[in-house]
Amino acid sequence: MPELLDVEGFRRFAERHVAGRAIRSVHVLDRELVRNRSARSLQSALAGQRFGTARRHGKWLILPAGEAELLMHFGMTGALAWAPNDADRHRHDRLVVVFDGGELRYNNMRRFGGVWLARDADERELVTGSLGPDAATLGPEKFAALLDARRGGIKAALMDQHLIAGLGNLMSDEILWRARVHPEASVGSLTPHRRQKIYHELRAVIGESSRYGRVPHGRRWLTRMRDDRDASCPRCGSRLSRTRVAGRTACWCPRCQRR
Ligand SMILES: [Zn+2]
Repeated sequence: MPELLDVEGFRRFAERHVAGRAIRSVHVLDRELVRNRSARSLQSALAGQRFGTARRHGKWLILPAGEAELLMHFGMTGALAWAPNDADRHRHDRLVVVFDGGELRYNNMRRFGGVWLARDADERELVTGSLGPDAATLGPEKFAALLDARRGGIKAALMDQHLIAGLGNLMSDEILWRARVHPEASVGSLTPHRRQKIYHELRAVIGESSRYGRVPHGRRWLTRMRDDRDASCPRCGSRLSRTRVAGRTACWCPRCQRR
């Protein structure tokens, strides 16, 4: 499940392989995953252009190409790969951008997410929706201001890309577990001290995960335990609970994260 850190990894990957290179051709292998253009229109917009500096906003990868931008979202199972031009393609490759000396492949088994073309910033926002500030560069004052204006539960708030861009199910669970805050605690009920604690853990989770390029499966991380049937809290040993929050399964410790 790509979150901010995975997409940051894809951004670096794209930067390493394609920045500054001229696009020879574009092959759409799955028309449905090119969400807002026909295969022909995408091909004619991109062929002959050069990719500029790759950017990331939340879970979106933005690849400028000439006047336009190629937008990628990785859904549940998306990834990028680089391969020699003559290498066999994988059956889950959905889009291939061909250069001299290699090709960039957008691979996506479960087909959530996709690829879009945006002509300008307005069209980009139409595609991504209005995104909140990126979680990796969010300052403490901004975080406090965003929560001040927010109602509802804290985990849903952390995962809302319109509020803060980049946090998904795993990272929000780690942050709240570390901060000892129940995922359904209402934002309004959290004291300034608790909110600061959440911000502190947000920084820590992003910072520590950055070294691995993903949420690590270390002994002090919830992520390692969460898929076990008898998952227990890495801190207190209690059996972990699960609750549906904002369409995802939140994992939390009933002892460490009391309401
Ligand atoms: Zn616990």
